[in-house]
Amino acid sequence: MAANIIDGKAISAAVKEKVRDEIAHEGLKVELAVVIVGDDPASRVYVNNKKKACEFCGIKSYEYALPEETTQEALLELVDTLNADANVNGILVQLPLPKHLDEKAVIERISPNKDVDAFHESNVGRIMIGNYSFLPCTPAGCMELIHSTGVEVSGKECVVIGRSNIVGKPMAMLLLHENGTVTICHSRTHDLAEVCRRADILVAAVGRPNFVTVDMVKPGAVVIDVGINRLDNGKLCGDVKFDEVSEVAGWITPVPGGVGPMTIAMLMRNTVTAAKIQK
Ligand code: NAD
Repeated sequence: MAANIIDGKAISAAVKEKVRDEIAHEGLKVELAVVIVGDDPASRVYVNNKKKACEFCGIKSYEYALPEETTQEALLELVDTLNADANVNGILVQLPLPKHLDEKAVIERISPNKDVDAFHESNVGRIMIGNYSFLPCTPAGCMELIHSTGVEVSGKECVVIGRSNIVGKPMAMLLLHENGTVTICHSRTHDLAEVCRRADILVAAVGRPNFVTVDMVKPGAVVIDVGINRLDNGKLCGDVKFDEVSEVAGWITPVPGGVGPMTIAMLMRNTVTAAKIQK
């Protein structure tokens, strides 16, 4: 039987509407500073989508588009200025930064209570102990998609493929917070297909097109595809071989229209949270 498609577009629209209504009803003034360095086309698309979402929600967004050759000092100076500006509630530095810049140092410079991506070490630490203000947008969005299925995480076998700091690791932590039995797989995992087949909830965050094939999926599983891969023909595709996996999974996210829009919706939510914390 074909899987239920988890409609990330519709679910993200509902989250954004809620954020918009909250801002309007509570008369909040919310501002997000978006910093982009260089002219990476994918980053440009992400930044434009984030700005559109801000507009929809009633969040004022200010873009700081810096040239590719920006120095580390200049970028840190801008972050300092934004940290000190009481009108700025959230600061987002679009990654990846050009190679000559030290991403880690830039993230650590952002004031933790304006760190709406939740990448700062202190926010990451707070996620570990379950005492957080912000959750990283992509894993938080994945959790919303899982909740939308009605499948309880508690007690379930959860497998996350990928161990990056921004997706895989926090994703595993959020599943653990909800009492999932969590396995993290990565490029050195032995018998990956066998491990994945155990999963009631399978999250793929690898960055390789069509990596998860039908033999890796337990019938009825919830399959969340975080991957965004651009094929030679210009089309986007996920990490999951959608056509065949959707024949056996219970629920599956499409790419595009799954996790991507959720990431932006959760950013909107984090920005409102930041404004409230600062108030
Ligand atoms: P990353 O490159 O930092 O991490 C990829 C992970 O996959 C690594 O931990 C690695 O161990 C694992 N991996 C690589 N090859 C493997 C193999 N053969 N077997 C098992 N594991 C393997 O990437 P990332 O930043 O975590 O992003 C992953 C994907 O998610 C990318 O396609 C990225 O574009 C996408 N992404 C999407 C969103 C969104 O909003 N939808 C947000 C962030 C990232």
